Amino acid sequence: MASSRLRVAVIGAGSAGLCSARHILSRPLAFDLPVVFEATSQVGGTWVYMEEPENVENTHSSMYRDLKTNLPKEVMEFPDFSFNPSLPSFIHHSEVLKYLEEYTDKFSIRPCIKFNTCVVSVYPVPGNQERASWWVVSTTHGEEVVEKFDAVMVCVGHYSHPYIPDIEGMKDFQGQVLHSHFYRFPEVFSSRSVVLLGSGPSGVDIAMELSAHAKHVILSHRGPPLNWSPPENVSMAPPVIRAAHDGLIFENGIKVEADTLIFCTGYKYHYPFFLPRTGISNGQVMERKDVLDWGFLDGEDIENPDQGKGHLPPLYKRLIHARYPTLGFIGACKIVIPFPLVHCQAQFFLEVLEGKCPLPPTEQMLSESRKELVEHRRAGLPLKYLHRLGEKQWEYAQSLADTASFQPLAPVLAKLYEATREFRNSNPLMYRKLNFTILDREDFEMRTDLKDE
Ligand code: FAD
Repeated sequence: MASSRLRVAVIGAGSAGLCSARHILSRPLAFDLPVVFEATSQVGGTWVYMEEPENVENTHSSMYRDLKTNLPKEVMEFPDFSFNPSLPSFIHHSEVLKYLEEYTDKFSIRPCIKFNTCVVSVYPVPGNQERASWWVVSTTHGEEVVEKFDAVMVCVGHYSHPYIPDIEGMKDFQGQVLHSHFYRFPEVFSSRSVVLLGSGPSGVDIAMELSAHAKHVILSHRGPPLNWSPPENVSMAPPVIRAAHDGLIFENGIKVEADTLIFCTGYKYHYPFFLPRTGISNGQVMERKDVLDWGFLDGEDIENPDQGKGHLPPLYKRLIHARYPTLGFIGACKIVIPFPLVHCQAQFFLEVLEGKCPLPPTEQMLSESRKELVEHRRAGLPLKYLHRLGEKQWEYAQSLADTASFQPLAPVLAKLYEATREFRNSNPLMYRKLNFTILDREDFEMRTDLKDE
Protein backbone atom coordinates (compact mmCIF):
# COMPACT_ATOMS: atom_id res chain seq x y z
CA MET A 1 0.00 0.00 0.00
CA ALA A 2 1.32 3.48 -0.87
CA SER A 3 2.48 5.53 2.12
CA SER A 4 0.19 8.39 3.11
CA ARG A 5 3.16 10.18 4.64
CA LEU A 6 4.22 13.34 2.85
CA ARG A 7 7.51 13.44 0.98
CA VAL A 8 9.23 16.81 1.32
CA ALA A 9 12.21 18.19 -0.60
CA VAL A 10 14.39 20.66 1.29
CA ILE A 11 16.65 22.80 -0.91
CA GLY A 12 19.82 23.83 0.95
CA ALA A 13 21.63 22.55 4.06
CA GLY A 14 22.35 25.88 5.73
CA SER A 15 20.73 26.69 9.07
CA ALA A 16 17.23 26.99 7.50
CA GLY A 17 17.43 23.69 5.61
CA LEU A 18 18.87 21.82 8.59
CA CYS A 19 16.16 23.20 10.85
CA SER A 20 13.44 22.25 8.34
CA ALA A 21 14.81 18.69 8.11
CA ARG A 22 15.03 18.48 11.92
CA HIS A 23 11.33 19.29 12.29
CA ILE A 24 10.27 16.95 9.48
CA LEU A 25 12.22 14.15 11.18
CA SER A 26 10.42 14.86 14.46
CA ARG A 27 7.04 14.05 12.80
CA PRO A 28 7.55 10.50 11.48
CA LEU A 29 3.84 9.69 11.38
CA ALA A 30 3.06 12.51 8.98
CA PHE A 31 6.27 12.76 6.93
CA ASP A 32 8.67 10.44 5.13
CA LEU A 33 12.37 11.10 5.63
CA PRO A 34 13.12 14.44 3.97
CA VAL A 35 15.46 14.70 1.00
CA VAL A 36 17.84 17.62 1.57
CA PHE A 37 19.59 18.85 -1.59
CA GLU A 38 22.88 20.62 -0.94
CA ALA A 39 24.89 22.06 -3.82
CA THR A 40 28.19 21.95 -1.92
CA SER A 41 30.00 19.18 -0.06
CA GLN A 42 29.22 20.56 3.44
CA VAL A 43 26.44 21.70 5.74
CA GLY A 44 26.46 25.28 7.07
CA GLY A 45 25.84 27.49 4.00
CA THR A 46 26.86 31.05 4.84
CA TRP A 47 29.04 29.83 7.71
CA VAL A 48 31.39 27.84 5.45
CA TYR A 49 34.35 30.19 4.97
CA MET A 50 35.86 30.21 1.48
CA GLU A 51 39.35 31.72 1.55
CA GLU A 52 39.61 32.24 -2.20
CA PRO A 53 36.25 33.29 -3.57
CA GLU A 54 35.55 32.62 -7.24
CA ASN A 55 32.73 34.05 -9.34
CA VAL A 56 29.19 34.63 -8.03
CA GLU A 57 27.94 31.23 -9.17
CA ASN A 58 30.67 29.38 -7.23
CA THR A 59 30.90 31.56 -4.13
CA HIS A 60 27.97 31.02 -1.81
CA SER A 61 29.40 32.45 1.40
CA SER A 62 30.47 36.01 2.16
CA MET A 63 32.17 35.17 5.47
CA TYR A 64 35.41 37.08 5.94
CA ARG A 65 38.40 35.64 7.76
CA ASP A 66 38.07 37.45 11.08
CA LEU A 67 34.29 37.81 11.25
CA LYS A 68 32.75 37.49 14.69
CA THR A 69 28.99 37.25 15.06
CA ASN A 70 27.06 40.49 15.39
CA LEU A 71 24.49 38.81 17.63
CA PRO A 72 25.33 37.09 20.92
CA LYS A 73 25.21 33.30 20.75
CA GLU A 74 22.44 33.38 23.41
CA VAL A 75 20.18 35.10 20.84
CA MET A 76 21.44 33.23 17.78
CA GLU A 77 20.93 29.67 18.94
CA PHE A 78 18.00 27.42 18.03
CA PRO A 79 15.63 27.21 21.05
CA ASP A 80 16.17 23.43 21.21
CA PHE A 81 19.99 23.32 20.90
CA SER A 82 22.49 25.47 22.80
CA PHE A 83 25.94 26.68 21.88
CA ASN A 84 28.74 25.48 24.11
CA PRO A 85 28.16 27.61 27.27
CA SER A 86 31.90 28.11 27.81
CA LEU A 87 32.14 30.24 24.63
CA PRO A 88 31.93 34.03 24.89
CA SER A 89 28.72 35.68 23.66
CA PHE A 90 30.20 36.93 20.38
CA ILE A 91 32.03 34.16 18.59
CA HIS A 92 34.20 33.55 15.53
CA HIS A 93 32.35 32.25 12.45
CA SER A 94 34.12 28.86 12.73
CA GLU A 95 32.28 28.24 16.04
CA VAL A 96 28.93 28.75 14.32
CA LEU A 97 29.85 26.24 11.64
CA LYS A 98 30.88 23.75 14.35
CA TYR A 99 27.55 24.35 16.10
CA LEU A 100 25.59 23.66 12.88
CA GLU A 101 27.58 20.47 12.31
CA GLU A 102 26.74 19.35 15.85
CA TYR A 103 23.06 20.18 15.29
CA THR A 104 23.13 18.07 12.10
CA ASP A 105 24.46 15.06 14.00
CA LYS A 106 22.36 15.53 17.13
CA PHE A 107 19.15 15.37 15.06
CA SER A 108 20.46 12.66 12.66
CA ILE A 109 20.01 14.87 9.60
CA ARG A 110 23.20 13.92 7.72
CA PRO A 111 21.88 10.66 6.15
CA CYS A 112 19.05 12.67 4.54
CA ILE A 113 21.39 15.08 2.74
CA LYS A 114 22.39 14.66 -0.92
CA PHE A 115 25.67 16.57 -1.05
CA ASN A 116 27.16 18.05 -4.25
CA THR A 117 23.62 18.05 -5.61
CA CYS A 118 22.27 21.26 -7.06
CA VAL A 119 18.57 21.79 -7.66
CA VAL A 120 18.29 23.28 -11.14
CA SER A 121 14.56 23.23 -11.72
CA VAL A 122 11.38 23.09 -9.63
CA TYR A 123 7.92 23.11 -11.14
CA PRO A 124 4.43 22.08 -10.07
CA VAL A 125 2.82 18.95 -11.40
CA PRO A 126 -0.17 20.33 -13.37
CA GLY A 127 -3.42 20.04 -11.45
CA ASN A 128 -4.78 21.37 -8.17
CA GLN A 129 -2.61 24.35 -7.21
CA GLU A 130 -3.67 24.28 -3.56
CA ARG A 131 -2.32 20.75 -3.07
CA ALA A 132 0.28 20.86 -5.86
CA SER A 133 3.02 18.26 -5.91
CA TRP A 134 6.38 19.17 -7.41
CA TRP A 135 8.95 17.95 -9.86
CA VAL A 136 12.44 18.64 -8.57
CA VAL A 137 15.29 18.36 -11.07
CA SER A 138 18.77 18.11 -9.57
CA THR A 139 22.26 17.46 -10.88
CA THR A 140 25.05 15.57 -9.13
CA HIS A 141 28.41 15.74 -10.92
CA GLY A 142 26.57 16.48 -14.18
CA GLU A 143 24.05 13.67 -13.86
CA GLU A 144 20.44 14.86 -13.86
CA VAL A 145 17.72 13.28 -11.70
CA VAL A 146 13.99 14.16 -11.63
CA GLU A 147 12.00 13.35 -8.49
CA LYS A 148 8.44 14.03 -7.37
CA PHE A 149 7.60 15.51 -3.95
CA ASP A 150 4.42 16.48 -2.10
CA ALA A 151 5.98 19.72 -0.89
CA VAL A 152 9.16 21.78 -1.24
CA MET A 153 10.93 23.92 1.36
CA VAL A 154 13.19 26.51 -0.28
CA CYS A 155 16.10 27.19 2.11
CA VAL A 156 18.77 28.64 -0.17
CA GLY A 157 19.58 31.80 1.81
CA HIS A 158 19.68 35.34 0.43
CA TYR A 159 23.26 36.52 0.96
CA SER A 160 24.86 35.16 -2.18
CA HIS A 161 23.80 37.35 -5.09
CA PRO A 162 25.19 40.86 -4.61
CA TYR A 163 23.03 43.89 -5.29
CA ILE A 164 25.08 46.57 -7.05
CA PRO A 165 23.39 49.92 -7.71
CA ASP A 166 23.83 51.65 -11.07
CA ILE A 167 26.37 54.44 -10.70
CA GLU A 168 26.97 56.85 -13.55
CA GLY A 169 30.45 56.56 -15.07
CA MET A 170 31.33 53.39 -13.17
CA LYS A 171 32.92 51.77 -16.21
CA ASP A 172 35.43 54.66 -16.43
CA PHE A 173 36.67 54.22 -12.85
CA GLN A 174 40.24 52.89 -13.00
CA GLY A 175 40.39 51.67 -9.40
CA GLN A 176 39.52 48.27 -8.01
CA VAL A 177 35.78 47.56 -7.57
CA LEU A 178 34.35 44.72 -5.52
CA HIS A 179 31.29 43.77 -3.50
CA SER A 180 31.62 42.92 0.20
CA HIS A 181 30.59 39.36 -0.79
CA PHE A 182 34.17 38.92 -2.06
CA TYR A 183 36.01 40.70 0.78
CA ARG A 184 38.09 38.31 2.92
CA PHE A 185 40.85 40.15 4.87
CA PRO A 186 42.21 43.69 5.18
CA GLU A 187 45.97 43.20 4.55
CA VAL A 188 45.52 43.31 0.78
CA PHE A 189 44.29 46.91 1.08
CA SER A 190 47.47 48.17 2.83
CA SER A 191 48.15 51.86 2.16
CA ARG A 192 45.14 52.20 -0.14
CA SER A 193 42.35 54.78 -0.12
CA VAL A 194 39.17 52.78 0.11
CA VAL A 195 35.57 53.95 -0.23
CA LEU A 196 32.85 51.68 1.16
CA LEU A 197 29.34 52.33 -0.10
CA GLY A 198 26.77 51.28 2.53
CA SER A 199 26.84 51.38 6.32
CA GLY A 200 24.97 48.21 7.24
CA PRO A 201 26.63 45.65 9.55
CA SER A 202 29.13 44.55 6.85
CA GLY A 203 30.00 48.12 5.79
CA VAL A 204 30.79 49.21 9.35
CA ASP A 205 32.64 46.02 10.25
CA ILE A 206 34.79 46.03 7.13
CA ALA A 207 35.57 49.74 7.58
CA MET A 208 36.87 48.98 11.08
CA GLU A 209 38.99 46.06 9.83
CA LEU A 210 40.42 48.16 6.99
CA SER A 211 41.27 51.10 9.24
CA ALA A 212 44.24 49.16 10.69
CA HIS A 213 45.81 48.72 7.22
CA ALA A 214 44.44 51.16 4.64
CA LYS A 215 45.71 54.74 4.25
CA HIS A 216 42.23 56.21 4.39
CA VAL A 217 38.74 54.71 4.62
CA ILE A 218 35.57 56.58 3.66
CA LEU A 219 32.23 55.17 4.72
CA SER A 220 29.75 56.54 2.23
CA HIS A 221 26.11 56.19 3.24
CA ARG A 222 22.67 57.75 3.23
CA GLY A 223 21.73 57.10 6.87
CA PRO A 224 21.80 59.59 9.77
CA PRO A 225 25.23 60.69 11.08
CA LEU A 226 26.86 57.93 13.12
CA ASN A 227 26.84 58.60 16.87
CA TRP A 228 30.28 57.09 17.58
CA SER A 229 33.83 58.23 16.93
CA PRO A 230 35.59 56.20 14.27
CA PRO A 231 39.38 55.69 14.13
CA GLU A 232 41.34 58.70 12.82
CA ASN A 233 41.74 57.46 9.25
CA VAL A 234 38.02 56.70 8.82
CA SER A 235 35.65 59.42 7.66
CA MET A 236 32.02 59.62 6.59
CA ALA A 237 30.53 60.88 3.34
CA PRO A 238 27.13 60.94 1.62
CA PRO A 239 26.43 58.29 -1.05
CA VAL A 240 28.65 57.99 -4.12
CA ILE A 241 26.59 59.16 -7.10
CA ARG A 242 29.14 59.31 -9.94
CA ALA A 243 32.48 57.81 -10.85
CA ALA A 244 35.29 59.26 -12.96
CA HIS A 245 38.47 57.57 -14.14
CA ASP A 246 40.49 58.93 -11.21
CA GLY A 247 37.99 59.10 -8.39
CA LEU A 248 34.48 59.06 -6.97
CA ILE A 249 31.97 61.89 -6.57
CA PHE A 250 29.61 62.06 -3.59
CA GLU A 251 26.10 63.47 -3.49
CA ASN A 252 27.42 66.76 -1.99
CA GLY A 253 29.58 67.29 -5.12
CA ILE A 254 32.89 66.52 -3.38
CA LYS A 255 35.25 64.30 -5.36
CA VAL A 256 37.89 62.03 -3.81
CA GLU A 257 40.70 60.04 -5.32
CA ALA A 258 40.23 56.39 -4.45
CA ASP A 259 42.07 53.17 -5.15
CA THR A 260 39.19 50.88 -4.27
CA LEU A 261 35.40 50.98 -4.08
CA ILE A 262 33.69 48.26 -2.04
CA PHE A 263 29.93 47.92 -2.48
CA CYS A 264 28.37 47.00 0.88
CA THR A 265 24.97 47.33 -0.69
CA GLY A 266 23.35 44.04 0.22
CA TYR A 267 21.95 41.19 -1.79
CA LYS A 268 19.14 40.19 -4.15
CA TYR A 269 16.78 37.29 -3.73
CA HIS A 270 17.74 34.62 -6.21
CA TYR A 271 15.65 31.55 -7.03
CA PRO A 272 16.91 30.52 -10.48
CA PHE A 273 15.28 27.08 -10.37
CA PHE A 274 11.85 28.65 -10.86
CA LEU A 275 12.84 30.25 -14.16
CA PRO A 276 11.92 28.59 -17.44
CA ARG A 277 14.66 26.30 -18.65
CA THR A 278 15.34 25.06 -22.16
CA GLY A 279 14.18 21.54 -22.83
CA ILE A 280 10.92 21.90 -20.90
CA SER A 281 7.71 21.74 -22.90
CA ASN A 282 5.60 24.88 -23.38
CA GLY A 283 2.89 23.83 -20.99
CA GLN A 284 5.40 23.38 -18.17
CA VAL A 285 7.12 26.67 -18.92
CA MET A 286 3.79 28.44 -18.45
CA GLU A 287 3.21 26.73 -15.10
CA ARG A 288 6.66 27.65 -13.87
CA LYS A 289 6.45 31.33 -14.81
CA ASP A 290 3.27 31.25 -12.78
CA VAL A 291 5.23 30.43 -9.62
CA LEU A 292 6.96 33.81 -9.74
CA ASP A 293 3.91 35.76 -10.87
CA TRP A 294 2.36 38.06 -8.26
CA GLY A 295 -1.00 37.89 -10.00
CA PHE A 296 -1.61 41.63 -10.23
CA LEU A 297 -4.94 42.51 -11.69
CA ASP A 298 -5.45 44.90 -14.60
CA GLY A 299 -5.58 48.46 -13.34
CA GLU A 300 -3.91 47.76 -9.99
CA ASP A 301 -1.81 50.73 -9.00
CA ILE A 302 1.63 49.18 -8.86
CA GLU A 303 4.50 48.87 -11.24
CA ASN A 304 5.51 45.33 -12.10
CA PRO A 305 7.53 43.94 -9.18
CA ASP A 306 10.24 43.03 -11.64
CA GLN A 307 10.58 39.30 -11.28
CA GLY A 308 13.67 39.37 -13.48
CA LYS A 309 15.70 41.15 -10.80
CA GLY A 310 14.40 39.70 -7.60
CA HIS A 311 12.63 36.46 -8.46
CA LEU A 312 10.57 36.94 -5.33
CA PRO A 313 7.17 35.20 -5.37
CA PRO A 314 4.07 36.35 -3.44
CA LEU A 315 4.40 35.01 0.09
CA TYR A 316 1.66 34.65 2.68
CA LYS A 317 3.01 35.23 6.20
CA ARG A 318 6.38 35.80 4.47
CA LEU A 319 6.87 32.09 3.97
CA ILE A 320 4.06 30.27 2.17
CA HIS A 321 3.55 30.69 -1.57
CA ALA A 322 0.18 32.43 -1.75
CA ARG A 323 -0.99 30.41 -4.77
CA TYR A 324 0.92 27.16 -4.19
CA PRO A 325 0.76 26.56 -0.41
CA THR A 326 2.82 23.36 -0.64
CA LEU A 327 5.80 25.56 -1.49
CA GLY A 328 7.50 27.15 1.53
CA PHE A 329 10.30 29.74 1.71
CA ILE A 330 12.10 29.31 5.01
CA GLY A 331 14.45 32.12 6.05
CA ALA A 332 13.55 34.84 3.53
CA CYS A 333 13.17 37.54 6.24
CA LYS A 334 15.91 40.07 6.94
CA ILE A 335 17.02 42.01 10.06
CA VAL A 336 15.90 39.18 12.32
CA ILE A 337 17.33 36.52 14.60
CA PRO A 338 17.68 33.95 11.80
CA PHE A 339 17.97 30.62 13.63
CA PRO A 340 15.07 31.08 16.10
CA LEU A 341 12.89 32.57 13.36
CA VAL A 342 13.37 29.67 10.92
CA HIS A 343 12.65 27.35 13.87
CA CYS A 344 9.19 29.02 14.00
CA GLN A 345 8.68 29.17 10.23
CA ALA A 346 9.54 25.50 9.68
CA GLN A 347 7.08 24.40 12.36
CA PHE A 348 4.35 26.65 10.98
CA PHE A 349 4.79 25.31 7.43
CA LEU A 350 4.74 21.67 8.57
CA GLU A 351 1.59 22.24 10.64
CA VAL A 352 -0.03 23.65 7.49
CA LEU A 353 1.07 20.67 5.40
CA GLU A 354 -0.28 18.30 8.04
CA GLY A 355 -3.64 20.06 7.77
CA LYS A 356 -3.55 21.13 11.43
CA CYS A 357 -3.40 24.83 10.64
CA PRO A 358 -5.91 25.87 7.97
CA LEU A 359 -5.00 28.67 5.57
CA PRO A 360 -7.32 31.39 4.27
CA PRO A 361 -8.62 31.07 0.68
CA THR A 362 -6.03 31.60 -2.08
CA GLU A 363 -7.52 34.95 -3.19
CA GLN A 364 -7.19 36.31 0.35
CA MET A 365 -3.55 35.17 0.68
CA LEU A 366 -2.72 36.67 -2.70
CA SER A 367 -4.42 39.94 -1.93
CA GLU A 368 -2.68 40.20 1.48
CA SER A 369 0.75 39.64 -0.08
CA ARG A 370 -0.02 42.11 -2.89
CA LYS A 371 -1.16 44.70 -0.35
CA GLU A 372 2.13 44.27 1.53
CA LEU A 373 4.08 44.86 -1.68
CA VAL A 374 2.00 47.87 -2.73
CA GLU A 375 2.52 49.53 0.67
CA HIS A 376 6.22 48.73 0.54
CA ARG A 377 6.60 50.25 -2.93
CA ARG A 378 4.59 53.33 -1.97
CA ALA A 379 7.00 53.89 0.91
CA GLY A 380 9.71 54.07 -1.78
CA LEU A 381 11.50 50.93 -0.62
CA PRO A 382 13.25 48.48 -2.97
CA LEU A 383 12.01 44.93 -3.42
CA LYS A 384 15.05 43.47 -1.67
CA TYR A 385 13.74 44.97 1.63
CA LEU A 386 10.22 43.54 1.34
CA HIS A 387 10.76 41.02 4.14
CA ARG A 388 12.89 43.23 6.38
CA LEU A 389 11.30 42.84 9.81
CA GLY A 390 13.46 44.43 12.52
CA GLU A 391 11.25 45.21 15.50
CA LYS A 392 8.22 43.62 13.73
CA GLN A 393 9.86 40.19 14.05
CA TRP A 394 8.63 39.58 17.60
CA GLU A 395 4.97 40.03 16.79
CA TYR A 396 5.49 38.00 13.61
CA ALA A 397 7.12 35.05 15.44
CA GLN A 398 4.43 35.18 18.12
CA SER A 399 1.64 35.12 15.52
CA LEU A 400 3.16 32.02 13.86
CA ALA A 401 3.34 30.26 17.24
CA ASP A 402 -0.20 31.30 18.22
CA THR A 403 -1.74 30.30 14.89
CA ALA A 404 0.01 26.93 14.67
CA SER A 405 0.06 26.23 18.45
CA PHE A 406 3.72 25.67 19.16
CA GLN A 407 5.99 27.03 21.92
CA PRO A 408 6.62 30.74 21.21
CA LEU A 409 10.07 32.34 21.43
CA ALA A 410 11.13 33.40 24.92
CA PRO A 411 10.52 37.15 25.55
CA VAL A 412 14.12 37.51 26.77
CA LEU A 413 15.34 37.13 23.17
CA ALA A 414 13.70 40.41 22.15
CA LYS A 415 15.18 42.20 25.16
CA LEU A 416 18.65 40.85 24.54
CA TYR A 417 18.46 41.59 20.79
CA GLU A 418 17.40 45.19 21.43
CA ALA A 419 20.14 45.67 24.05
CA THR A 420 22.73 44.35 21.58
CA ARG A 421 21.44 46.64 18.82
CA GLU A 422 21.75 49.68 21.07
CA PHE A 423 25.32 48.81 22.10
CA ARG A 424 26.30 48.06 18.51
CA ASN A 425 24.91 51.36 17.22
CA SER A 426 26.63 53.39 19.91
CA ASN A 427 29.90 51.50 20.01
CA PRO A 428 30.57 49.23 17.03
CA LEU A 429 34.21 48.87 18.05
CA MET A 430 33.52 47.47 21.51
CA TYR A 431 30.12 45.80 21.71
CA ARG A 432 31.58 42.35 21.09
CA LYS A 433 33.33 42.59 24.47
CA LEU A 434 29.97 42.14 26.21
CA ASN A 435 28.92 38.81 27.66
CA PHE A 436 25.39 37.74 28.47
CA THR A 437 23.74 35.03 30.51
CA ILE A 438 20.08 34.22 30.07
CA LEU A 439 18.50 33.87 33.52
CA ASP A 440 15.01 32.77 32.53
CA ARG A 441 12.44 33.30 29.71
CA GLU A 442 12.12 36.97 30.67
CA ASP A 443 15.49 38.12 31.90
CA PHE A 444 19.22 38.22 31.19
CA GLU A 445 22.38 39.33 32.93
CA MET A 446 25.14 41.33 31.28
CA ARG A 447 28.83 41.45 32.11
CA THR A 448 31.22 43.85 30.48
CA ASP A 449 34.98 44.19 30.35
CA LEU A 450 34.87 47.29 28.11
CA LYS A 451 37.31 49.08 30.42
CA ASP A 452 40.07 46.65 29.48
CA GLU A 453 40.41 47.92 25.89
P1 FAD B 1 22.55 29.81 3.84
O1 FAD B 1 23.36 29.71 5.05
O2 FAD B 1 22.98 30.73 2.77
O3 FAD B 1 22.40 28.33 3.24
C1 FAD B 1 21.82 28.06 1.99
C2 FAD B 1 22.33 26.71 1.48
O4 FAD B 1 21.63 26.40 0.28
C3 FAD B 1 23.81 26.71 1.11
O5 FAD B 1 24.46 25.63 1.74
C4 FAD B 1 23.82 26.55 -0.41
O6 FAD B 1 24.92 25.84 -0.88
C5 FAD B 1 22.52 25.81 -0.65
N1 FAD B 1 21.95 26.02 -1.99
C6 FAD B 1 21.73 27.20 -2.62
N2 FAD B 1 21.17 26.99 -3.82
C7 FAD B 1 21.03 25.65 -3.96
C8 FAD B 1 20.51 24.82 -4.99
N3 FAD B 1 19.99 25.33 -6.10
N4 FAD B 1 20.53 23.49 -4.81
C9 FAD B 1 21.04 22.94 -3.66
N5 FAD B 1 21.55 23.69 -2.65
C10 FAD B 1 21.53 25.03 -2.80
N6 FAD B 1 23.20 35.59 11.39
C11 FAD B 1 23.28 35.53 12.73
O7 FAD B 1 22.40 34.95 13.38
N7 FAD B 1 24.34 36.10 13.42
C12 FAD B 1 25.35 36.73 12.77
O8 FAD B 1 26.27 37.23 13.40
C13 FAD B 1 25.31 36.78 11.33
N8 FAD B 1 26.33 37.35 10.63
C14 FAD B 1 26.30 37.32 9.28
C15 FAD B 1 27.36 37.85 8.57
C16 FAD B 1 27.37 37.83 7.19
C17 FAD B 1 28.54 38.40 6.43
C18 FAD B 1 26.27 37.27 6.50
C19 FAD B 1 26.23 37.22 4.99
C20 FAD B 1 25.19 36.75 7.18
C21 FAD B 1 25.19 36.76 8.58
N9 FAD B 1 24.13 36.22 9.30
C22 FAD B 1 24.18 36.19 10.67
C23 FAD B 1 22.92 35.73 8.62
C24 FAD B 1 23.08 34.28 8.11
O9 FAD B 1 22.94 34.36 6.74
C25 FAD B 1 22.05 33.41 8.74
O10 FAD B 1 22.41 33.26 10.10
C26 FAD B 1 21.92 32.00 8.21
O11 FAD B 1 23.14 31.36 8.18
C27 FAD B 1 21.19 31.87 6.89
O12 FAD B 1 20.96 30.49 6.68
P2 FAD B 1 20.17 29.92 5.43
O13 FAD B 1 20.09 28.46 5.64
O14 FAD B 1 18.91 30.69 5.24
O15 FAD B 1 21.07 30.26 4.16
